[in-house]
Amino acid sequence: MDLDVLFVGTAGSAPSARRGLPAIVVRRGGERLLFDCGEGTQRQLMRSIGLLDFEEIFLTHYHADHVLGLPGMLKSFALRQRERPLTIYGPPGLASFWRLIDPIVGRLPFKITLQTIAPNDELQRDGYRLAAYEVDHRGLALGYAIVESPRPGVFDPDRAQSLGVTPGPDFGRLQRGETVDGVRPDQVMGEPRRGRRLVLAGDTVPCEMTRLVAYEADLLVHEATLLEDEAQRAWETRHSTALGAAELAAAAHVTMLALTHVSPRYAGRELEEEARPAFENTVVPRDFDRIELPFPERGEPQLVKASERPPERVESAAPDPVP
Ligand SMILES: [Zn+2]
Ligand SMILES: [Zn+2]
Repeated sequence: MDLDVLFVGTAGSAPSARRGLPAIVVRRGGERLLFDCGEGTQRQLMRSIGLLDFEEIFLTHYHADHVLGLPGMLKSFALRQRERPLTIYGPPGLASFWRLIDPIVGRLPFKITLQTIAPNDELQRDGYRLAAYEVDHRGLALGYAIVESPRPGVFDPDRAQSLGVTPGPDFGRLQRGETVDGVRPDQVMGEPRRGRRLVLAGDTVPCEMTRLVAYEADLLVHEATLLEDEAQRAWETRHSTALGAAELAAAAHVTMLALTHVSPRYAGRELEEEARPAFENTVVPRDFDRIELPFPERGEPQLVKASERPPERVESAAPDPVP
């Protein structure tokens, strides 16, 4: 099953000519989950995979740079007569946030459900769980972890045959966990294989909770708003430096670190240069880059740069809205 992370907006605090405000789409199989919705997100989506009728949007916190894209996007959904319901998840404070934008958004032709998600809440999904945890930012802010369930081990047909099982439907029964003619699945199946783990830390200083939640994760997406020469300011505003994020990634033994929430003053390369001595496998995606996460036995996460591949396939061909 495919799993990737599309970086829709990689700036922090304010946009730049090259980087839009925070938004990330996680694509797993047919699912599309949007994390944060900074100003301009709908246009960033149109420029990449299309303005999808997301069914779920997850907010990390309510700072302007992460949420101001929401009213405009909801209006666009309304203009094209969207009917599919939408659930917005966010930390406590979601209802107050909604009261602020409700008069701007006005009446919508589809149902919105607001779902407050507290630290340590988990959503059980088909094949994975989505867990929220508290990070260390100004006010309550969440990080999110996507943790896939272990997959069954690899079936050994030769072993099954040598134990007297006939190839055919009985092989399928064994693989589904049934005992066949006294042969148990654990005799013919290898060790369960681990699922993938992906952590989106949101806005935060490097904190212990992220280290624990991201332990041995395949990918940690962490903010790096500033460089180390601004460490004091990063600390006061509860943001991270590139070095701080890299040291955390090393302590958490993740496979890959992706730095985002880049201050408009940086191009990105200087963040990578600061981070790599502490954590070699660091990337600083640009807008529309994506990171593919194959199953661990098939290889490591790969950064696929937007500049080095054909444009994203537009997934939604919604008709132009009629105002
Ligand atoms: Zn921010
Ligand atoms: Zn913030």
